[in-house]
Amino acid sequence: MAEKYVYDFTEGDKDQKDLLGGKGANLAEMTRLGLPVPPGFTITTEACRSYLANGYEPPELRVQVTMALRHLEDQLNRQLGDRHDPLLVSVRSGAKFSMPGMMETVLNIGLNDASVLGLTAASGSERFAWDSYRRLIQMFGKTVLGIEGDLFAAALDDAKAAKGVKLDTELEAADLVALVDTFKAITREHAGREFPQHPREQLDLAIEAVFNSWNTERARIYRRRERIPHDLGTAVNVCTMVFGNLGDTSGTGVCFTRDPSTGHTGVYGDYLQNAQGEDVVSGIRNTLSLEEMEALDPASYAELRKHMRKLESHYRDLCDIEFTVERGKLWMLQTRVGKRTAAAAFRIAVQLVDEHLITMDEALLRVSGEQLSRLMFPQFATSGATGQLTKGMAASPGAAVGKAVFDSATAVEWAARGEEVVLVRRETNPDDLGGMIASVGILTSRGGKTSHAAVVARGMGKTCVCGAEEIEVDSVGRTASVGATVVAEGDTISIDGTTGEVFVGAMPVVPSPVARYLEEGLKEAITEAGDDSAELVAAVDRILRHADSVRRLGVRANADTEEDAERARHLGAEGIGLCRTEHMFLGDRRVLIERVILAEETNEREAALAALLPLQRADFVRLLEAMDGLPTTIRLLDPPLHEFLPDLTELSVRVAVAEERGAPDEADLLLLAAVKRLHESNPMLGLRGVRLGLVVPGLFGLQVRAIAEAAALRTKAGGSPRVEIMVPLVGSVMELHLIRDETDGIVHEVAAREGVDLHIPVGTMIELPRAALTSGRIAEAAEFFSFGTNDLTQTTWGFSRDDVEAAFFAAYLEKGVFTVSPFETLDGHGVGRLVKISVEEGRAARPDLKVGVCGEHGGDPESVHFFHQAGLDYVSCSPFRVPVARLEAGRAAIS
Ligand code: PEP
Ligand code: MG
Repeated sequence: MAEKYVYDFTEGDKDQKDLLGGKGANLAEMTRLGLPVPPGFTITTEACRSYLANGYEPPELRVQVTMALRHLEDQLNRQLGDRHDPLLVSVRSGAKFSMPGMMETVLNIGLNDASVLGLTAASGSERFAWDSYRRLIQMFGKTVLGIEGDLFAAALDDAKAAKGVKLDTELEAADLVALVDTFKAITREHAGREFPQHPREQLDLAIEAVFNSWNTERARIYRRRERIPHDLGTAVNVCTMVFGNLGDTSGTGVCFTRDPSTGHTGVYGDYLQNAQGEDVVSGIRNTLSLEEMEALDPASYAELRKHMRKLESHYRDLCDIEFTVERGKLWMLQTRVGKRTAAAAFRIAVQLVDEHLITMDEALLRVSGEQLSRLMFPQFATSGATGQLTKGMAASPGAAVGKAVFDSATAVEWAARGEEVVLVRRETNPDDLGGMIASVGILTSRGGKTSHAAVVARGMGKTCVCGAEEIEVDSVGRTASVGATVVAEGDTISIDGTTGEVFVGAMPVVPSPVARYLEEGLKEAITEAGDDSAELVAAVDRILRHADSVRRLGVRANADTEEDAERARHLGAEGIGLCRTEHMFLGDRRVLIERVILAEETNEREAALAALLPLQRADFVRLLEAMDGLPTTIRLLDPPLHEFLPDLTELSVRVAVAEERGAPDEADLLLLAAVKRLHESNPMLGLRGVRLGLVVPGLFGLQVRAIAEAAALRTKAGGSPRVEIMVPLVGSVMELHLIRDETDGIVHEVAAREGVDLHIPVGTMIELPRAALTSGRIAEAAEFFSFGTNDLTQTTWGFSRDDVEAAFFAAYLEKGVFTVSPFETLDGHGVGRLVKISVEEGRAARPDLKVGVCGEHGGDPESVHFFHQAGLDYVSCSPFRVPVARLEAGRAAIS
């Protein structure tokens, strides 16, 4: 049997969006519900896909359109474009997801030089008939024949100017007759053909134009941005015309079944008397409220209210609706589940639960982690306002206003005297940490979403815009400029980490009641908030608690300090999945680690290690106290060695200057030789992670001893430390065996000496493809795995995580190589495949293997769903993303 490409509105339903598009499926649903929908039919997305694949319509389509059209004509007892009482139709595109980037509508198909007279007779209005005809030529010319729309608009303006009037409605029938001639001439000149007089030709060309509109540049860009697949195609809806512009008993409007910004039930909408839908959008006249419509036309209003209630009960959600009244008769033209703000999404979901329309599970599916994260950060009161300097990548959400500073020391100094500062750097490195902590926001001109600035800022919950490449940062002259605009040190700037926008001057900021709730608890947040915010906070609380009750995935945090750990606990973290230890070797301690690295004599190294031990132990005691009773995974030192040594260029200059003066510094000379010896071209692939532990004697041992002693101290103090040791960048089980031998020995020794029972599981990060592919063997030596998906993405793709996002990801996204950075959302097909293999082989070798993830993906909504499906035990992410991960883990469990 031939494929069925055409569905009458009486045939489909709302669940057929794949086939009928969103608009078509909902029109069918309204028809099924017995609502007054003008009759019509939908051409399927399958027909569009076939057209796009072959370059021509499937041959059966013409025949099926004929059958559907005849059915329509018989039903209405009128014929398309008939010269006496013509049936007119609209042709509208309607994809599965609404796409404003596409061709929308051609109205009044079926009008021509003859049927316009029939329409005059049938409607009793010559003006109306000719106005309808000119609208057809205008829309058809623009969207089907590709003529510049301004040409028609200019001709319309000329006609009004010639007559000395302002409004379209002031043009009379004779003016419109003349305008139709002008429009036809424009068509002839710019399309190289006459406006088609044959109604069926008009219809067929319009259908084909809708198919083609799927692939316009605008539509493709929109899909890439919204991550809509390119191969879905669009449906085409052919619908009997009804007219809201047939005098004062006609009109058109839009309405919502509840307030899309607060969620409250009520009557929200606009109505425009004697007008067509396009007039509402173009704002020709002021619209009326629905209450005012009630006064004008109580019968239509009452009927509309009835349909609104029916739709909301049926969809069990906020619906938005387009309707038209034609001479006192109400027609429903469109409905869909309405868009809403993040706040309204939470409120509406809970309201619907309380009205017993949906369950808590459904409420959880109606909101998203993305919406929750939007509610967690302060925002600028007005986004996209004037004064925008440039736009970078939205790296860590929030709104920050402060004085621009260009180095870490100034940031610390100014912050200490009570100034709010925004740290502006080309890029940041571990040396900037102090300045980053002191600043309210961080702005960089280089680096992507996993650059140092972005990762650290997200970890701290600090607003960050990175990779704002238009900015020229001059850290010596202490300015940032974009073209002629120069921001000097001390000038106030505002950065929006949710949108990436950067503004000169101070933008007004509104604080977040949801953040307050998450950090301080429900009671505190509600007593402080106004009614509206209190309702929102209560809604977030209920949904989040429900997510916690249904999720299978544990949620931990990546936290390096006791402050972060405490914050993470408040935000609901059930442990620390990654404590990076590299920050513990900066500042005063740097000279000690430098000595460990450079020591030529064993006793020299041991002295430095001995000096570091009490400091490290104290770090861990504080951390374990903050996380008492919860698993705390501490990772042994990971970064390349040279990060702890002086900068090669600076040191070379210092040495050269001293030599020039004839006073070379012996220590500097030795240091320079060492720095040169240890210099690496690709440090991220060099001497780091477990490799460091194996070649620098005593380094990992120091950390393990500090961990074991801290655990012993906490145990003796009556605490319940649950520390785990994690080894980074393992590629071979042999590396892990070697480290374990040393580790287990130290732990035993400390336990025996201190007289306490210490069980400290040792596990590994899986960050290299080789580790993933040999997981069965690695699991022999690991009690747990934690996927370091930052490095695993870097090493799987061969992408340098510090460079590629700024270098060419924009081009890759533009060309559609990927729809989102693989550093942001896990690449399921590639990196994800390695994760799955690793989980499977690891568990096969060791059935009680605990498996988690601690790369940035652990807090990314889409990736959380992946990790749930891959069977991980927990995700670990920045403290501020913990609530998002809890919510998404709950959603993953029930979807
Ligand atoms: C990772 O690689 O995913 C990870 C968590 O480690 P880091 O980002 O510190 O390299
Ligand atoms: Mg890593």
